[in-house]
Amino acid sequence: MPPTHVAVLGGGITGLTSAFHLARRFPKTQITVFESNNRLGGWVRSQRKKIEQNKASVLLESGPRTLRPNSKALLELINLLNLKPHVLKTSTSAPAAKNRFLHIPGSQGLSILPSSLSTLFKSPVSSLLVGSVLKDLIRPPNRGQSSKEEEDESVDSFLSRRFGDDFARVMGSALVHGVYAADSRILSIRSAFPSLWKAHIRGTGSVARSMVLRPFLPKEKDEGTPKAEYEFGDTEEFMKGVSVFSFVNGIQDLTTGLAKRLDEMPNVAIKNDGVSSLEPTTGGFAVCSITLDSSQVAETSHVVSALPLPILSKVLTNEGGAPPLPHLTSNPSSSVTVVNFVFDSPPDDIHPAGFGYLIPRPSDSNSSPRGIESCMLGTVFDSSSLAAQDSSPTLTKLTVMLGGPHPLPKDGVSIPELLSVLSSHLQRKLPEPILSNVRVQRDCIPIPTVGHWKRMKELKETLSADPWRGKMEVIGAGVGGVSIGDCIEAGRNAGRAWL
Ligand SMILES: Cc1cc2nc3c(=O)[nH]c(=O)nc-3n(C[C@H](O)[C@H](O)[C@H](O)COP(=O)(O)OP(=O)(O)OC[C@H]3O[C@@H](n4cnc5c(N)ncnc54)[C@H](O)[C@@H]3O)c2cc1C
Repeated sequence: MPPTHVAVLGGGITGLTSAFHLARRFPKTQITVFESNNRLGGWVRSQRKKIEQNKASVLLESGPRTLRPNSKALLELINLLNLKPHVLKTSTSAPAAKNRFLHIPGSQGLSILPSSLSTLFKSPVSSLLVGSVLKDLIRPPNRGQSSKEEEDESVDSFLSRRFGDDFARVMGSALVHGVYAADSRILSIRSAFPSLWKAHIRGTGSVARSMVLRPFLPKEKDEGTPKAEYEFGDTEEFMKGVSVFSFVNGIQDLTTGLAKRLDEMPNVAIKNDGVSSLEPTTGGFAVCSITLDSSQVAETSHVVSALPLPILSKVLTNEGGAPPLPHLTSNPSSSVTVVNFVFDSPPDDIHPAGFGYLIPRPSDSNSSPRGIESCMLGTVFDSSSLAAQDSSPTLTKLTVMLGGPHPLPKDGVSIPELLSVLSSHLQRKLPEPILSNVRVQRDCIPIPTVGHWKRMKELKETLSADPWRGKMEVIGAGVGGVSIGDCIEAGRNAGRAWL
């Protein structure tokens, strides 16, 4: 029987997407979204700032800034929300797609990562890359003997085992700094980079062998929903040849588009009200929120929680005698400080053409940077891929990410010190920025540590049994992947079994 009333907890991208798809799938079901903040969107936050002196405006992101067109659910959502006219694309042939850099601690300036034969000869990291790939190609399978290691391991241990320690430290740690703002020595390879994990199993232990043998191996089964079920319209065609994309008014175009559509749906109510407790009852769930007193508890038949897992753990009460849900507080999360800069100079004067650069873990304490530089994860050259968001092509915006595994200075970020480090990385004297914007985001990216997949399997099994009886789903960045595409896929699939 379809649900009568679903409470969606959390109005981030995951909660909003699940409310949207549930409301379409069950038009007679009441859907109530509870969001504690006075704005929807969670970590998605795009702000347009006026630059009075230039009579211009720039779009600054403090959360996600670029999306990849590899998520089917994201392409579908763009179609369903009619967002195509707002999409800003970066083609795979653009410098922002091809040129990615590293700043290796202890070295000068930036090293370009090879993306073609011509850059292979120019790049200082080419010999490391070529040697590491050859190592993986010829190395026999070397998975751990204990059953634990067979199931999962850290990104660092996986890459060291297959590609060598230097590759794991330089390439692996930099990638993990860029995506998870985390330490690659604790992040699970199986949960964070499932395609690498699967490739190495397919390639009898080797990722490179799996790539080489791909045309000869049986086609991988698509574990997700069959493609035909996605309502793409012509969005797949529209996104051909795209490396990354965003929207005219930033990633927030997605969440404002969802909020607008939810507002028009007669079976959806959005409550600007935080959930204070949740309890399974005989008929469903009792959801209590901050402004409702105990006599006004919302009774719902089903629940989708899209809350950060530690918050869900606090919200669950044990009054009904329900056993606590397992593993909600098992993973740590990263805190990130985002610093946006705008310069009154064209991008060519500020940085090389490209997406930006990441900073790997130093090889030893001698090459460890000091001061603010030791907190840096990397820098995104926003103007290279997202210039069309801003009203003037002669302005440059870039964003520095700090924190994650590196503790931030207690007295905050010193902008002059950060600019001096940036000047040294970019090997040019930078002008004074006309705008700088600092935002500290606490516990913003959940880190799936080794064994996460198994813990989430156990959580799912618990939810299918009494007293939850499969009527509550727990989704969001802390459960599946953290990318916006992963969150949208999870939101789309919530409650599929409730038909
Ligand atoms: C700095 C940064 C950069 C990123 N860059 C990218 C990128 O470039 N590309 C990409 O794909 N992804 C990126 N991500 C990841 C992505 O943005 C997040 O994983 C995603 O937005 C998480 O969405 P969510 O809805 O699962 O969680 P959240 O956004 O955390 O939403 C949870 C919601 O629950 C609400 N809430 C909390 N407590 C309660 C309560 N008691 N009752 C009701 N509501 C409550 C919160 O206010 C929030 O709105 C980035 C993330 C960060 C932080």
